[in-house]
Amino acid sequence: METAQQRLAQLEQKLSYQPQSGLPTHFRLELELEEFVEKYARQQGGGSTATRPGFTVLILQLGPTFGMVRKTLRASISEWILYQTGCRIAAFLTDRDRVFHTREDEFVLLLPGKKGSSLKEFLQGLHTSLAVPHGFTGFSVSVPVTSGASYFPDHGLNRSELLHHADLAAGAAKDQRKPFVLFKQSIRDTAVERMELQNSILKAIEAPALHQLGEQFRLLYQPKLFVSSLDEGALQISRIEAEALMRWNHPTKGLISPTQFIPIAEESGLIEPLGKWLVYTCAGILEEWSNSGHGDIGLSVNLSPRQFRSSSILQTLETVLSSSETGLNRLTVELTETSLFEDIDSTTRILERFATLGLRISVDDFGSGYSSLSHLHRFPLDEIKVDRLFVEHIRSNKQDRVIVSSLVHMAKDLGFDLIAEGVEDADSLRILFDMGCRGFQGYLLSEALSEAEFLSFHDTIVANDMLIQLPLDSGELLS
Ligand code: C2E
Ligand code: CA
Ligand code: CA
Repeated sequence: METAQQRLAQLEQKLSYQPQSGLPTHFRLELELEEFVEKYARQQGGGSTATRPGFTVLILQLGPTFGMVRKTLRASISEWILYQTGCRIAAFLTDRDRVFHTREDEFVLLLPGKKGSSLKEFLQGLHTSLAVPHGFTGFSVSVPVTSGASYFPDHGLNRSELLHHADLAAGAAKDQRKPFVLFKQSIRDTAVERMELQNSILKAIEAPALHQLGEQFRLLYQPKLFVSSLDEGALQISRIEAEALMRWNHPTKGLISPTQFIPIAEESGLIEPLGKWLVYTCAGILEEWSNSGHGDIGLSVNLSPRQFRSSSILQTLETVLSSSETGLNRLTVELTETSLFEDIDSTTRILERFATLGLRISVDDFGSGYSSLSHLHRFPLDEIKVDRLFVEHIRSNKQDRVIVSSLVHMAKDLGFDLIAEGVEDADSLRILFDMGCRGFQGYLLSEALSEAEFLSFHDTIVANDMLIQLPLDSGELLS
């Protein structure tokens, strides 16, 4: 008969070792790290910080390839990779060092005395060894790793601080795509700032009714103009549209730019309710403009990569379509070039659904990615927006002119509208017009405006027989 004590010992044994790698687990790490802290704290008597003995806590994470292998290949393959990784790490350790297998894709190392150049040398060897592909019959798999570290006593005096700081450093390594990052205070500050922003997004959208989002989030409208002729500085406008650009009016931080909050909202999943709010608001605006006699103004919205691929945005669009009188054919969705080419087959399917709903589809920031132009014809596109980077130096950079000119021809061949983004001066507009470009957006014509300002901008052009006089400073049309 097993005694209670034997069962307890068995349980402890089970909790202590990872079956795949045979290495001690998180359970052991907690105990041993505590012992390390006590031992090194006792040795921390006099002397300068630099000479006092300490140790490094290193967190090593397997890259996303490992997750893919685990999901798609036989279990024995990921188990072998884990076992091999454990062995490769162990080969670099001295008797005093310790290694733990804490999560399926994570190892933690305790390295006494390794700091500065000795740590760097150790990491170079370790990363090189871990980068060697794992061979199987007929194929091999490489699993890149990233790591982050904290040092006792400099970065923490207790177990949880040291682990937390090493974890933040490992996260920073992943974000910055670096093989290794050592903890420093600024990493913690950035993490705190991100968490604060995330919490306030949560608070802002916790409100059950979507319309309450409008208390903190609002839209500005930047004119997108189509020009049919340019004659001695007079632009004949053939079509006026607007791009909706989101602003977050934070209760204490003031206006926050979408380049700051969209990535955070994406990471936390909060982008979904924001996307819903955006689509409902824009559908409402389109209806309002059409009912108030402003004619058929087209409106563009931006969808981030995650929004674009979420099924909830499709549902929202379908709901809006079935309840809207005007339909969605005056709504354009702008998707960045990089998000389109991430997964061509699923992109094609989603875009075809968008097209059957009557939406127009635009490729944003075109030229900033590395996609092949020859793939564009596979998608049901209506518009291409040339990235601001190519427009910025169009006057002085011949190569940019060659690129934009070939894009103009390609768009013509494929029947897409082409918009030049970020047009800031009249010379650039002329050069672009002479190349055959007919769509323009940028500070030269107008910055992003409130709804009332945009409507007044629109009405002024209409009242002026659709003519605008160049040169024009930003906002001049309104004054
Ligand atoms: P984008 O789609 O490329 O939007 C154009 C950005 O360029 C806007 O910045 C606009 O104010 C700015 N811009 C316009 N004309 C000029 C110009 O002549 N010169 C210069 N230097 N800049 C110009 P904004 O509003 O800060 O938006 C930044 C990005 O945030 C947008 O880039 C878009 O990717 C994203 N974004 C904005 N609103 C939303 C939204 O509702 N949803 C999502 N998912 N993303 C959004
Ligand atoms: Ca855009
Ligand atoms: Ca853009």
